[in-house]
Amino acid sequence: MRVLLVHPAFPVTYWGFQHALPIIDKRATLPPLGLITMAAHLPPGAELRLVDLALTPLDDATVRWAEVVLVGGMRIQSPSMHAVIAQARALGRRTVVGGPAATTSPQEFADADVVFQGEVEGREDELAQALDGTLSGLRPARETRPELAATRLPRYDLLDLGAYCSMSVQYSRGCPFRCEFCDVIEIFGRVPRVKQPAQVLAELDQLYALGWRGTLFLVDDNFIGNRREVARLLPELEAWQKQRGMPMSIYTEASVDLASEPELLRGMVAAGFGAVFLGIETPSETALRDAGKTQNLRLGPAQAVAILARAGLEVMSGFIVGFDSDDAAALRAQRAFLAAAPIPLAMVGILTALPGTALWKRLSREGRLRTAGEGDTHVRPNFVPRMNEAELLDGYADLMTEVYCEDAYLKRCLAHLALAPVPQGRVRAGGLRIGARALWRLGVRGRRRRLFFGLLAASVQKSPAFISWAIEKAIQGEHLIRYTLEDVVPRIRAAAVEARAAQLPLPHTLPVLSEAG
Ligand code: SF4
Repeated sequence: MRVLLVHPAFPVTYWGFQHALPIIDKRATLPPLGLITMAAHLPPGAELRLVDLALTPLDDATVRWAEVVLVGGMRIQSPSMHAVIAQARALGRRTVVGGPAATTSPQEFADADVVFQGEVEGREDELAQALDGTLSGLRPARETRPELAATRLPRYDLLDLGAYCSMSVQYSRGCPFRCEFCDVIEIFGRVPRVKQPAQVLAELDQLYALGWRGTLFLVDDNFIGNRREVARLLPELEAWQKQRGMPMSIYTEASVDLASEPELLRGMVAAGFGAVFLGIETPSETALRDAGKTQNLRLGPAQAVAILARAGLEVMSGFIVGFDSDDAAALRAQRAFLAAAPIPLAMVGILTALPGTALWKRLSREGRLRTAGEGDTHVRPNFVPRMNEAELLDGYADLMTEVYCEDAYLKRCLAHLALAPVPQGRVRAGGLRIGARALWRLGVRGRRRRLFFGLLAASVQKSPAFISWAIEKAIQGEHLIRYTLEDVVPRIRAAAVEARAAQLPLPHTLPVLSEAG
């Protein structure tokens, strides 16, 4: 069987770093880990080709080569997924769709021959039959979620490794918390399942053997979901890294209460973790409590971020506006928090009710849902907000303009720098090349030279060991600032105009005058 795996395209997003990629001579941020994991579970005799639309377009000849096209991705990739399905069907090829979007919204993929919901482990026969045409239609997820011991080594060998900024490894699925807006717990459940340390190290061995050195994203939605197991993994990860001269610079996502776990923190830093993405969401305790995100209330967010930064983890964070309790004062508090936060990468989105979440169900009960949402968080909310919508969007646009003005970004970077311990790593050869390219494109020809040299000067003053960090922040800042000001803010402003127009009373219909007057 010839199977074509297609990773659909992303629009420009914060995580895509599209404005930064040319500076570092890369073509995409992250590889399609879900697809190469699926690939490992396909029948042994299957011939495989992988097309990542972030790297190359999908030509008809490649589709014709295949007997079946397997496509999978997230909600924000849905338009591209439908385009791939249409192209394959027009050429008479069978289509199978899977991944998070198909799992939470299977009804939206009626254009595919098979919708494969849920996880693949333990369902290899079912997947094979979906691919060969024995099974069609909706293949629902199993009630019992599989243990990750059953997960096979992802097919990293299918990737063009040099095209990506970072490699990805998954350690766990699921999260014990119950944040109302989160679809992770709907997809993967609230009992975190983990791979054994030997599995994780086997994946690292594979990447290392393929020549990968550098950034590694542990893609878990909450890396510390199962703390006992993480405590078992970290010493083994540390030993693996030390035996090879610390080749991987690791980052991950975790819940804010990581700051209350000094042993885990120490273990993560020793194992080569340098950054962590947190869902801080909002400084408003009311909003956090209403959303069920009570784990964020144990420590104040400023205190938690400072603890992590001092320990050696740079904090990236997601923020949300549009909670039911949000008002003009809450948006002002959000702005004040962000202005002082040592968080260079702060991503602020409007609250979205994702299908299947507790938020979705509540808003549906309250009659406030508008659309299924497309995974774009810089548009009108997909539900009727409590706050006046136009004022919410105006406040959101103002906040974004402020967060990514050059000075505010520089200030947040310097606030992190002030807290960060001096890193021990050495400069890599690739780092020197990237530094030279950044110097030319940002320091000589760029529009934000003040940011570039401001970061460089401050880092040199603290320690030359921060120079590569400063260059990285300048490169990331180029994307974050450009994307915010050229794309995000104009779209939010347009959404505010639309919301304001929708609030206006309809114009009176003029009475039709009869000819007789
Ligand atoms: S902590 Fe993160 S992953 Fe866990 S439920 Fe909350 S939002 Fe979801």
